[in-house]
Amino acid sequence: MNTAFDYDLFVIGAGSGGVRAARTSAGYGAKVAIAEQQYLGGTCVNVGCVPKKLFVYASHVQHDIDDAKGFGWETSEARFDWPTLVRNKDTEISRLNGIYKNLLDNAGVALFEGKAVITGPNQITINDQVISAERILIATGGKPFVPEFPGSEHVITSNEAFFLEQLPKKIIIIGGGYIAVEFAGIFSGLGVEVHQFYRGDLFLRGFDQDLREKLAIEMPKQGVQLHFNTDIASIEKSHHGYQVTTAQGDTLDAGLVMYATGRKPLVDQLGLATTGVTLSSKGYIEADAHFQTQEPSIFALGDVTGGTELTPVATAEAMSFASRYFANKDKPMDYSNIASAVFSQPSLASVGLTEQQANEAHPDDLQIFRSEFKHMKHTLSGRDEKTFMKLIVQKSTDRVIGAHMMGADAGEIIQGIAIAIKAGATKADFDSTIGIHPTAAEEFVTMRG
Ligand code: NDP
Repeated sequence: MNTAFDYDLFVIGAGSGGVRAARTSAGYGAKVAIAEQQYLGGTCVNVGCVPKKLFVYASHVQHDIDDAKGFGWETSEARFDWPTLVRNKDTEISRLNGIYKNLLDNAGVALFEGKAVITGPNQITINDQVISAERILIATGGKPFVPEFPGSEHVITSNEAFFLEQLPKKIIIIGGGYIAVEFAGIFSGLGVEVHQFYRGDLFLRGFDQDLREKLAIEMPKQGVQLHFNTDIASIEKSHHGYQVTTAQGDTLDAGLVMYATGRKPLVDQLGLATTGVTLSSKGYIEADAHFQTQEPSIFALGDVTGGTELTPVATAEAMSFASRYFANKDKPMDYSNIASAVFSQPSLASVGLTEQQANEAHPDDLQIFRSEFKHMKHTLSGRDEKTFMKLIVQKSTDRVIGAHMMGADAGEIIQGIAIAIKAGATKADFDSTIGIHPTAAEEFVTMRG
């Protein structure tokens, strides 16, 4: 404890990264405070991963009802009530907010509710109180970004989608990233007519080309109408909600228009001008591999730094930060082979290199294994849905350097494969692993050239 300051560490932002950094640092003996102006748990808990997954479960119920008949179940007409789902989700999120509060209290972290402004390299002002800290950590995350165009004030983002009073009959979702694809599946499963607009040829840029193409075949089977190479020129209010005019001159009416066109870092009014902290051209805080900004006493991690915007990455960075600065142990981040899932319907998950990246890294030294099949469940459900799996192997070393899947439980399955890939498993290791039968996952150990 450095007695020249009120705190050893003052964290701004109580999201996934901030809370983990605060309580881990406190666990190492540091005197820590954290400031939050909105809700404990940040985006992930309140308007991101958690409520999104609950909504995905809700929309899947419709699929299960549709599939029931083939298994002998007669289901009387099912009815869905959106306000009940939102209310139950809110109750669960409040419970999680409480858990975050307890975690901070139990770790001895002081919580300041309000907007923290940095007023000097070692100074924060919050609710008119001036506080000093040896180190300041910025973990303020990001917020949805909506481009400006005529009528852009009419659109909602994922932030509002979680609290709608009622579902529209028809929605237009703009964007081709994680959030757009996930919400297209959610709304469609809940009975909304969904049109997804994406400005390019094919959504999910950066994902393996096969996965992108396969998902573009599956989503329309579930009712989502995909419109690629489509940009919006303007939106006007209309009798039915909103009329959208595309750059191509087409018009479409919908009850709601949702933009999911990426996120921007939350750095407004943080007071960075009083410090040497620098921003990248895209507005992210620039920090080095040890999370240190150009102002030596100020650090930053998570989405606000513009790296991989995933909760587990932010929490891993938080633990690396706490370990280095409060436990004297360097545990540098390893950003290789980070697995991730898109909770689309069907879901996608990936770890390691895409085929396109692998071709650049190891030209003429690859073997690609693909498998596409009907999931056993759908032999009776009658659902027309394909499962797809792919392994990318470096020929000269036999190492599996990429694994990709589309299908039920893709995230659950790829999480296990990610451990094998992280451990350097070869294709021979995969082949000598005895499968669990009958599962879809066993396909990953039975793929042959
Ligand atoms: P993404 O960056 O994933 O996707 C943004 C999409 O919007 C892209 O398709 C992009 O197109 C498009 N776009 C960007 N600007 C414009 C514009 N001006 N006009 C039209 N389209 C535009 O952002 P998301 O908002 O979907 O998600 C943010 C981040 O949150 C993700 O990157 C991810 O890291 C994280 N996330 C993770 C989830 C998970 O792990 N399951 C779930 C949800 C979010 P183009 O490709 O052409 O640039």
